[in-house]
Amino acid sequence: MNATKRRKPAKEAPAPVEDQIHDKPDNILACRDMRHAWAIDLPYYGVSIEGGVRGALYVERRAGCMRCNTQRIELYRVHKNRLERLSTKYVYPEEYHIRGAKRGDDVVGKARFEQYRRSQPKV
Ligand SMILES: [Zn+2]
Repeated sequence: MNATKRRKPAKEAPAPVEDQIHDKPDNILACRDMRHAWAIDLPYYGVSIEGGVRGALYVERRAGCMRCNTQRIELYRVHKNRLERLSTKYVYPEEYHIRGAKRGDDVVGKARFEQYRRSQPKV
């Protein structure tokens, strides 16, 4: 179903994107603007994966954002001289989410504008 043609929204409509951005803390806006500041929380450790190639070695690594605490879990297959990235999963803090944002909303541009606005001297 095309979202623009839906007549009855399933949930209560979220606040406008601009209002949500206006209420976000500085660290969340900085990450939306400049991406995350990753630090490794857990270096590579071996894992077994369902449906993995028999005899293959798989490793995960965990990182966390030093600004907003988003968690990142990377999964790799170990080859002879390289790691092949199989997946990267992100777990965002609740306050990171902006509900109802659509393609073309330019959330990043609006997050930048909000940081700009906050940086201006109060009149
Ligand atoms: Zn972050």
